[in-house]
Amino acid sequence: MALSRCPKCDNESFEMVEVEPGNWRFKIMFVQCTSCGAVVGSMDYFNLSTLILELKEKLDNIELKLEDLEYELFALKKRTIA
Ligand SMILES: [Zn+2]
Repeated sequence: MALSRCPKCDNESFEMVEVEPGNWRFKIMFVQCTSCGAVVGSMDYFNLSTLILELKEKLDNIELKLEDLEYELFALKKRTIA
């Protein structure tokens, strides 16, 4: 596998840096050279995969609670009718 190199200074190590660009209200992450600071990439500040996974867990919990409520409501209706 080829080593990643900075296109400006040939350094081989990079770091993530949090930035708030002007005219932009969200933070983003720059991937930059640890030696000269040349920016070679950018990423969202929040890890979208993690956020989606957290939302899925919350939705799963809500779905389970709704199923419990549906079951209890059905049982209550049955008792009322009998
Ligand atoms: Zn560099």
